[in-house]
Amino acid sequence: MFTVQEIVEITEGTLLQGDETTEITSVHFDSRKLTDRSLFVALTGGTRDGHEFLPNAAKAGACAAFVSNETKAREAGLADTFALILVKDTEKAFQQIARIYRNRLSLPIAAITGSNGKTTTKDILAHLLSGQKKVYKTYKNFNNHLGVPLSLLQIEPDTEAAVLELGMNHAGEIDFLAGLVRPTFSVITNVNDAHMEFFDSKEMIAQAKGEILGHTDPKGFACLNQDNELVANLAHLNPGKTYFYHVHQEGEEPRAADITASAISFDEHGSHFVVTTNKGEQFKCFMPLFGEHNISNALPGIFIALHLGLTPEEIVKQLATLSISTMRFERVDGAGGLLIINDAYNASPSSMIASVRTFLSIYPERKKVLVLGDMFELGAQSKAYHQEVGEELKAMKQEFELVAIGKDAKFLAEGYGPGAKYFTDKEEAASYLASFKNGDYALLLKASRGMALETLLDSLC
Ligand code: ATP
Ligand code: MG
Repeated sequence: MFTVQEIVEITEGTLLQGDETTEITSVHFDSRKLTDRSLFVALTGGTRDGHEFLPNAAKAGACAAFVSNETKAREAGLADTFALILVKDTEKAFQQIARIYRNRLSLPIAAITGSNGKTTTKDILAHLLSGQKKVYKTYKNFNNHLGVPLSLLQIEPDTEAAVLELGMNHAGEIDFLAGLVRPTFSVITNVNDAHMEFFDSKEMIAQAKGEILGHTDPKGFACLNQDNELVANLAHLNPGKTYFYHVHQEGEEPRAADITASAISFDEHGSHFVVTTNKGEQFKCFMPLFGEHNISNALPGIFIALHLGLTPEEIVKQLATLSISTMRFERVDGAGGLLIINDAYNASPSSMIASVRTFLSIYPERKKVLVLGDMFELGAQSKAYHQEVGEELKAMKQEFELVAIGKDAKFLAEGYGPGAKYFTDKEEAASYLASFKNGDYALLLKASRGMALETLLDSLC
């Protein structure tokens, strides 16, 4: 990957000890993830000072480290052969070598951003490509200023395609991350109320997501969600080609898009839909995932996979064998025949509504229980957002039990009105929910990550 000498030059660092010709084959800031010939990045921004872990790094096989505190680095008592590279800012040095490493790669890289659906979209595209190519994808949710450079550095020379997730909380962050990644293809899934805490308006969130477009290779393209107006309006920021994807709802006027999903239906195994492209291809797909939002998440992946040479037949085959990360509308068998949909990975008002709609449309033979918890990061308007979700649930005019849990969830229950049950904590709710442990019921768990609503599974299963 790099010699110590190259790394010293790139980062304008000082070699305190060790040999310039030492070769580095991997880089990590977590000392537990190091292997032979790794470079350890002693980060200082977290709760612990990375310099404390230098001895562990050496034990794990690392042969070099970025350090910013010479005294602490020397106190670690490492062998003379261990290369200590002194830099001003270890995080910045880490990002610098990721940037240089990326510039040496020539594989297609897809980068995905948006308020919701990034991980799902990433996982679908990576799975589609993995049938034909050696693919690297972002590990879990490693989508920030540390996760993205780490992801780039983990792409191996023989990797044929990479799919990366870019996250953000503030303006300028995507600009930085996309500048590192320089995507061949970029995808913006949607813009909604997630992260409202740090922005004054949804338009400003959209602008921040749009920062990805200026870094997208003009020889590649951007794939934008036509069904999200804020996203579709970003096309002018893209200097290259833009393609739009669209989920056609029944009864809606047909609309032109570069790739469209229509004729959507769900059964207990997942979703069925027909894909139509701007090249006149048309094919029927089954995907073991629920919800129109997930069909939307599949479209940019299908479009990019077709562009990279997969045939419709290969795509249909791959989609059917998709298995997605847990807690995203995952089916769990509860006690006594109760059926649980665990969608407790995260929530925002729009994703909560999307999840409820899907849940209510499947398992028609069962009575429904919605267990909904607090949605975080909604800023000053949080109570109003919770209230609105409650009102929207009421307006659906469907049969279900509503159980709201948490702090602001109180306003969700109030918005719904009479009939809603409200609990401040999960333990109280758990004893109430015990009565649903039988084959008559299906129960949905949905809340923000911080609620860890999945802990209810202990008593429900
Ligand atoms: P994070 O910001 O936590 O990384 P993410 O953008 O990666 O989230 P996912 O992990 O794919 O998103 O999905 C999180 C939740 O968002 C899902 O459980 C689902 O309820 C909801 N969601 C996923 N895709 C969409 C979509 N296209 N539109 C609305 N909601 C969605
Ligand atoms: Mg994610």
